[in-house]
This record gives sequence, structure tokens and C-alpha cells, in this order.
Amino acid sequence: MSGFAADKSHPRYQSLLMRHRLELAAKAGMLADSALIAHGRGEAYDYLLGEKTIPSAHDATMEALAQLQNANSAVISLNGNAIALAGMELMQLASLLQIPVEVNIFYRTPERMSALLNHLSKIKSDNELDVEILGGNPNAKIPGLEGPRANCCKSGIYDSDVILVPLEDGDRCEALVAMGKTVLVIDLNPLSRSAKMGSVTIVDELSRVANNLLVGAMQKITRKPSSNYDNSQHLQAAIDYITSTLSSKGK
Ligand code: ATP
Ligand code: MG
Repeated sequence: MSGFAADKSHPRYQSLLMRHRLELAAKAGMLADSALIAHGRGEAYDYLLGEKTIPSAHDATMEALAQLQNANSAVISLNGNAIALAGMELMQLASLLQIPVEVNIFYRTPERMSALLNHLSKIKSDNELDVEILGGNPNAKIPGLEGPRANCCKSGIYDSDVILVPLEDGDRCEALVAMGKTVLVIDLNPLSRSAKMGSVTIVDELSRVANNLLVGAMQKITRKPSSNYDNSQHLQAAIDYITSTLSSKGK
């Protein structure tokens, strides 16, 4: 990747690679100014999780995959950080599952939207993927939200029954839940409003989750969603994991 000098043996290789992807995306006009701050908050939690997929997160990921596979109308909502960190994998996932992606960003400007849509179109054509890319021409509004961040597409987010929202803001997540959707959240912070509001919250780093979902989908085993999935139990497992890391690090 251009300008990325870190050696694979570096203990922070993955972390440095993710930072580099965000730097490139920022230069390409794909990110809001606050994007790097949001990433930093995620990194702090990831450090406490040992920068790996913990068992409860793996379980949540498999549940999320089952929900996506069994939906009537699923969609993957993409913001700038998600596209920068795992745009390729999430587009491959959408292509495999035959569901659309929709660009839906908090700070919506025409310039950022076209930078993001162009980036996704390039991934699509370079890899010959079969994915509908929505978000360029919103024609519906998420009820309960003010301003441009309420804008969405009727055939994508608005009419979906299951929605994957990597790194979603808390009150938009809440508005999606209020619309009756099954909301699949990816968020390293088990204490965030998004994490608590989600139907299935994956407390794990986005690029790891995208890979895990992709590997699961490639196995072509269709799972059924579990009838008694308990999101708060999964959040508690992540909090317990962090607490135990902290107490063992202090020793
Ligand atoms: P909320 O709005 O849900 O209360 P917040 O306002 O604290 O949360 P935001 O700034 O809206 O957080 O969104 C950033 C969230 O995304 C943080 O909770 C952070 O932990 C998480 N995050 C950042 N980078 C990643 C990543 N690469 N993978 C997973 N989660 C991430
Ligand atoms: Mg927020």
C-alpha cells in the first residue's frame, strides 16, 4: 500500500495499517474531521480487549450473519470510517449475500458523498462485484432525526428489516430501532449508546468483524437466528473481559 512503511513483524502492524488507511481516506476527502477521534476511542477499547476477537464477539458475529442471511431485505450502512477501514471486505460480503450497501454519513456534504461513492464504485468494478451502491439520491427520511443525517434511500435503509451499522452514532441507532428494524451494531465500546441500543452488538474491531463475516458467508452455511439471543449478556461478557484484562495487567 502506498507510503506504508511498517514491517509485518511490528507488534502494532494491524493498528498502524488501520491508521494508514484512515490517513489515506482523510487525504481523499472521505472523512469528517472528527473521524480520527472516533477511531482513537475505538483503539483504546481494542487495546483493553487484547486486539483480538473475544468469544462473545465471535458469537455475536455469527448471530449477525444469521440475521443477514435470513432477512427479507437486509442492507449494510456505510460511513467514512467503515469504507476506509474495510470497504473492500464489506463490499465482498454484500456481493456474496446479494444485499445492497448504502452510504449514510453523519456530516453529509456533496464532496464527501461523491468521494465515498466513487471509492465504492472503484472497488466494485476492480473486483467485478455484484452490489447495488445506494445513498447518492436519498428519497426518504429516518423518523426522529433532524437535518441531512436523517436522509436515506427507500429501497435501502428505509425499507430494510435488518441493517448492519458499523460505527453508528447512538441516536441514529436508536431511531433505526424505533423503526422496528433488527439493528446489527459493530462497536468496540460496550458502554456506548449504540452498543446498548443494538439488537445484536459485536464488540470487536470493524476490520476483524468484516473478515469474520466474510469467511462465515463464504462457507455458504445458512444459519438460523437464535430465538433467545441476549444482547446485554454479550455486552456484559465484553465488560467482564476488559475488567479481567485490567486486573491482570495491574499485577
Ligand atoms: P454513541 O453515539 O453510541 O453513544 P460515541 O458518541 O461515544 O457513541 P461515536 O463518536 O458516535 O461514539 O462513534 C465512535 C464509536 O465507534 C466509538 O464508540 C468507538 O468505540 C467505535 N469505533 C471506532 N473505531 C472503531 C473500529 N475500528 N471498530 C469498531 N468500533 C470502532
Ligand atoms: Mg455518538
